[in-house]
Amino acid sequence: MDRAKSKELFQKAQNHIPGGVNSPVRAFKSVGGQPIFFQKAKGAILEDVNGNEYIDYISSWGPMILGHAQPQVVQAIQKAVENSTSFGAPTSAEIDLAELVCKMAPGIDKVRMVNSGTEACMSAIRLARGFTKKDKIIKFEGCYHGHADSFLIKAGSGASTLGIPNSPGVTKGVAEDTLTCSFNNIEQVEEIFSQNPNQIAALIIEPVPGNMGCIIPQDGFLQKVKTICHANDALLIFDEVMTGFRLAPGGVQELFGITADLVTYGKVIGGGMPVGAYGGRTEIMDYVAPDGPVYQAGTLSGNPVAMASGISTLQFLLDNPEIYSSLNAKALKLKKGISEILKSKNADFRINQLGSMLSVHFTNEDVLDFDSAAKGNNEIFKRFFHHMLNNGIYLPPSAFESWFLNDALSEIHIKKTLDAVDRFDI
Ligand code: PLP
Repeated sequence: MDRAKSKELFQKAQNHIPGGVNSPVRAFKSVGGQPIFFQKAKGAILEDVNGNEYIDYISSWGPMILGHAQPQVVQAIQKAVENSTSFGAPTSAEIDLAELVCKMAPGIDKVRMVNSGTEACMSAIRLARGFTKKDKIIKFEGCYHGHADSFLIKAGSGASTLGIPNSPGVTKGVAEDTLTCSFNNIEQVEEIFSQNPNQIAALIIEPVPGNMGCIIPQDGFLQKVKTICHANDALLIFDEVMTGFRLAPGGVQELFGITADLVTYGKVIGGGMPVGAYGGRTEIMDYVAPDGPVYQAGTLSGNPVAMASGISTLQFLLDNPEIYSSLNAKALKLKKGISEILKSKNADFRINQLGSMLSVHFTNEDVLDFDSAAKGNNEIFKRFFHHMLNNGIYLPPSAFESWFLNDALSEIHIKKTLDAVDRFDI
């Protein structure tokens, strides 16, 4: 496969863009090699700058659930653009998207639009702190909530520890207010709450994590987390940036029948345009400015073009709910097919899958949290990634990222994918 133009562009990109990319994981650091530059995409197929085609299992890290350049979404965006790309003043499109979110997601009365998942999560914890008048938050090791200071915290080994920043630039003071524990470990959650009485404002969690590969919460885990939070007057924040509108119209809240106090969104809510949102019950959301004292703002928040993209994407999902069972069936087919092939090659592996999220871990242990995900064999993953790429299959360039299927993925694409896995020499 000739990728000369991508190589050339990557060289050039490094002159004026740090690392040649505008978001680190795009640089292929954990798998080696060079990123691919794309020029267009349609449905489930990406085309790079050399004209090579790839079946897309990243879907722009989640947003493109309907596939690329979906006609209704494109049309809605084009129509919006003609009426100006920004007013910095209210438009009816913001109401339409807010109404759709409140209709689709359980327990949300009001929602504030922002421009990214990071903004949604950082605003949600500020709101939780303002509402509860407490400072500390709990997050889970391996869960990613964007790049705001409070979230770039690494847990120490073993039991829960005070946070240590894992990026220079995050102050000790900020890190000390972020407590961490292992996903699926309810005892640690209990322990942290009992060690920090009346200090924890909120617990933020990816209810189905996708940032250490896909991880499935064990039976009862999320419900127990909610019970502990409420027993301690802390808010439960579901970060549904990946799962919202993807695993079900109402996200994990609907799928597991558990509502959170605040929910954050990104990715699918913007259908490929920069949109994030956070929402919850009126009594909490009324703490946000201008009604309440918790300040949060944005020049481009509720941008009309981004709203049009989000509205058409969510409306399409609402009108075509069979998409969810179809995505699940495709993911199950992939899981079954890949499992059979890898078994026949005597590989150690685990495949975690829920709806349209899936990940292959090369390990002989169940993957339930960050530690077990980190035990995966990255050398095999790297070879697997490049083998698939060279066979026209675009997987996430890290074992710590979930695959995201989109509605345009066909039986033929799945067969091609399985044929490529079959040719992998483990
Ligand atoms: N929360 C989760 C669960 C995410 O996966 C991400 C990004 O991947 C974010 C928050 C941050 O979103 P964004 O990249 O839009 O800032």
